[in-house]
Amino acid sequence: MRYVSNFVRSERQMFKTCVRAFLPPFPVVAFRQGKGSDCSAVVSEGDAVREGQLIAVLPDGDSVHSPVPGTVDSIFQTTLPDGKLGTSVKIRTGGSFSFLGKKDVVTNWHTLLKSEILDAIKSCGVVNTFFEPEPLFEIIEKSSEIKNNFLVVRMFDEDPGRLTDSFVAQFCLSKVTEGACITARAMGAAGIVFVLDKNQEFNPSLLNDSVPFCAVRVDASKYPAGFRENIITAVRKNARLPEYKFFSAMSRKSIFIDPETALSVYEAVVLGKPVIERFVHVTGNCLRSAAMMKVRIGTSISSLAEQCGGFKIAPAKIAVNGLITGKTVADPEVCITKSIKSVSFIPSSELFNQVLSPCIRCGKCRSVCPEHLYPDLMYRSATEGLATGNELKKTAALCSLCNLCSSACPARLPLSIGVRLLQEK
Ligand code: SF4
Ligand code: SF4
Repeated sequence: MRYVSNFVRSERQMFKTCVRAFLPPFPVVAFRQGKGSDCSAVVSEGDAVREGQLIAVLPDGDSVHSPVPGTVDSIFQTTLPDGKLGTSVKIRTGGSFSFLGKKDVVTNWHTLLKSEILDAIKSCGVVNTFFEPEPLFEIIEKSSEIKNNFLVVRMFDEDPGRLTDSFVAQFCLSKVTEGACITARAMGAAGIVFVLDKNQEFNPSLLNDSVPFCAVRVDASKYPAGFRENIITAVRKNARLPEYKFFSAMSRKSIFIDPETALSVYEAVVLGKPVIERFVHVTGNCLRSAAMMKVRIGTSISSLAEQCGGFKIAPAKIAVNGLITGKTVADPEVCITKSIKSVSFIPSSELFNQVLSPCIRCGKCRSVCPEHLYPDLMYRSATEGLATGNELKKTAALCSLCNLCSSACPARLPLSIGVRLLQEK
């Protein structure tokens, strides 16, 4: 991934602050903000909406809020970042804001009951974007049976093609650590594990709670370092040291979150603010300049490119959420959702030949797999309709979907997509 380091390494030095993106005059807010199913609106065309007002509740419990004050212009089917059609609401921006430019009203979360914290997380629509976005309250409720569960906060990006998590961890550190403490309280966590890059700043005195915690350092410049399996391995490696022994009981069942999720929890519980904006890293060698932006949900990807000075080279591909684990977006008019952390505009000169050919049995996918799996065999099972017994499903569950096998495959086979299909069977 030569081109990843080319532009991201130089941007790492550049982001000392983020830019607030222009408010969209007509934000288009998708009801389905991550995976899951669509739903119907709780508002109708012509309704007036406040900034942060609930506009949809999804079957998975996620709630969607208006990013601006205004009037509901239309409700229609549009293309979402995953390429599928989904219902969206278009809002005509206008009127006074409930949060923007207003003084924060701060709640002392230490006085709240666990159920009150969970209610705030649910009603403000906090999603966990550590991996595939999922409503956080649902993850916490599902894990309520697990005794001595841990909260794990990864403080850097697992995909080297973006810098969003690292930026939020650095510039909103006190809110992120407080959001982590609130999440730990909501889930009754035995402790918090902060996972940091070896060079990352961290100030433990910011932890405003008595919950036990530890900070584990990994080399985030080596890929993969930020997936569940990598983190568990890193924590267990330290287990012989007395200060880490207690935390080595963490497992895949622990709750893993990223800095933006912790920040959303802080804003929901302490400030009563629903999720209506995201930090988005807008990058790629097609752009005149890159930026870390704070963006209202519903802003189009094309308008972010314009705000970065437009294109010096026409993009051949637009990828969201990184270059290794991210997805391609076909339509630049797709709008920002809660699950988007970055948008990369990539010129044709940086694209690999994507023509698929049959497997040549070179074994490269097996040798690069950090979990020592056989991605070629799993891909065949998934795509050729071979029987998938429990053993195969258990093996597929070990895959972190790091995408290294697909990147290494000279036949350009989308091996990790095959493994994901097995995981979902
Ligand atoms: S995506 Fe591929 S390389 Fe990564 S863990 Fe899964 S099988 Fe292994
Ligand atoms: S890397 Fe690709 S071509 Fe080589 S064995 Fe794996 S699937 Fe086959």
